Amino acid sequence: AAAALAGASLPAFSYKPLYENIDNLPLEDNRFVWNVWVPGESDDGDAWDPLFHDSVRYWNAEIPWFDLSATTRNNEDCTNGSSRNQVNTATWRETNCGGGSMLHAAGWAQTFLSGFGDARVIDEGDVYFNETFEHAEGGAEQMVFDETSFYSVALHEIGHNLGLGHGYIDAAIMAYGPTHSSGRWRMRLSPDDICGVAVISGNREYCPVALGEAVTSNGATTQAHFSGYASADAGATAREALRPWQEFNIYTTVLIDPAHRYRPGKLHVVAETESGEYFARNADGEWHPWTGGELPAATPPVNLEHAMELVILGRNGISRGQPTYDPGHGYSLYREALTGIRLGLEGVRLKFWVAYSSEVEPDLLIYGSEPIRVAWTFE
Ligand SMILES: [Zn+2]
Repeated sequence: AAAALAGASLPAFSYKPLYENIDNLPLEDNRFVWNVWVPGESDDGDAWDPLFHDSVRYWNAEIPWFDLSATTRNNEDCTNGSSRNQVNTATWRETNCGGGSMLHAAGWAQTFLSGFGDARVIDEGDVYFNETFEHAEGGAEQMVFDETSFYSVALHEIGHNLGLGHGYIDAAIMAYGPTHSSGRWRMRLSPDDICGVAVISGNREYCPVALGEAVTSNGATTQAHFSGYASADAGATAREALRPWQEFNIYTTVLIDPAHRYRPGKLHVVAETESGEYFARNADGEWHPWTGGELPAATPPVNLEHAMELVILGRNGISRGQPTYDPGHGYSLYREALTGIRLGLEGVRLKFWVAYSSEVEPDLLIYGSEPIRVAWTFE
């Protein structure tokens, strides 16, 4: 049945570190306290202040290697200098008094580093909320926060203060833009968000979706890092067992070794069946038997950036609407959704191995020592 593997796929970039080519961005003293001054409440009477505190508590619970907290006080305003003052703030701001861009903001964040060379740490973060949204293509509109959107924006901006850039995994809190444009506000951190903070803060052991230690085909050590997971909800949660009729994505994120960044290279993905057969994915998303030798590239030619993501199977996003009954299979299916049934994967278990190679050392493979495991099962 694995020979039937053939899925639509879209390459995409995942979370990007806020500061490229800086690998570890620990928090100073491993702690972060925001001084909060967000007076007011929503039209429904939900006060903003406790929502910000809730968002800090939630992040703190998910990343136990850091101590995040917030305290409410009347903040300084622009005239006192709102940034680069070693004070972490969360406040309303309708104008950017510090210079720079507040593009597309319903909220925005500034994150500052201290230290020299490789010894950099995050030593200040400021979160600003406003209700002006500037569209990428020009024009601005006023939006009105409610309990849901304020909390979601707070989670996202806190992610920036922890060193995360934007990612494309649809359900990740650090996904860019669609929070607003789709009208769906993310309320949970995804495994990708948590892994991203773990990796860029030098705490890889806390990445919930790590694919083991990164290893190389010549035994040399590497600073690469591989993560990945299957998800039936656009990346919100990781699953090893999928129902055959569930729409799914399988994602991988690869942190490229510094020696290989910003040079041409290739991502590779190999599926292994229970009987030990291998199928390699090509750039068209097709899977062909592989018995050794040169691995095809799983993407068109690319420059390997700091972090790379690939949707191994599926597409970035999950169908909306109601499933319709499919008499051919006897199940209700989402129209055009990629499901195990449509790929002939009922009852199949697969391991997906992720690797990359670089033109710097073309014969060297760098890969995760553990695969992404997925079973399309009725159990
Ligand atoms: Zn953002």
